[in-house]
Amino acid sequence: MGHVSADWYAIAPPCSQDEFLATVRVYARAVVDAYSLSADVNALSWEVSTRAKRRAGAVRYRDGEPEAVRIAWRLFENEGWGAVAATVRHELIHVHLITEHDDPSHGDAFRDLADRLDTAVHCERFTEPDWWVSCTECSVRLPRYRESRLVREPDAYACGNCGGDFTVRTP
Ligand SMILES: [Zn+2]
Ligand SMILES: [Zn+2]
Repeated sequence: MGHVSADWYAIAPPCSQDEFLATVRVYARAVVDAYSLSADVNALSWEVSTRAKRRAGAVRYRDGEPEAVRIAWRLFENEGWGAVAATVRHELIHVHLITEHDDPSHGDAFRDLADRLDTAVHCERFTEPDWWVSCTECSVRLPRYRESRLVREPDAYACGNCGGDFTVRTP
């Protein structure tokens, strides 16, 4: 048990996707061991997505079981290994909670583990949205990538969390 330094496993572009995934796998195994997570790194398929523009990572499921973890190549190219390592930890928490509790959410259990593993609760997005719709009363912040009605007429809506008003900002 204890801290795993992501730096020990650091890899930087340019490298092949195979090299990248090999490093990701070794790092994932170290994280699973250090935090006693229920995740079988060898049984999971580890994949690179060259198309993902916003999602840093994702878990793919089959019949409710985690089957693959996918990491966005652009995340690696744009933000480097540190961001990839944080995303690997994030996705491993999903695998763990699905396996242990059938829980795919970012709820309380996720939050606790995200805190222990030093990763974001919402780290799966890496392209800045064009608009942020923020609650004036609480911490709710909604990214929007197109000019939806919520963006055009925030006054027509209330925060689902607290009932507060929304404001719209561009980053
Ligand atoms: Zn997530
Ligand atoms: Zn609110």
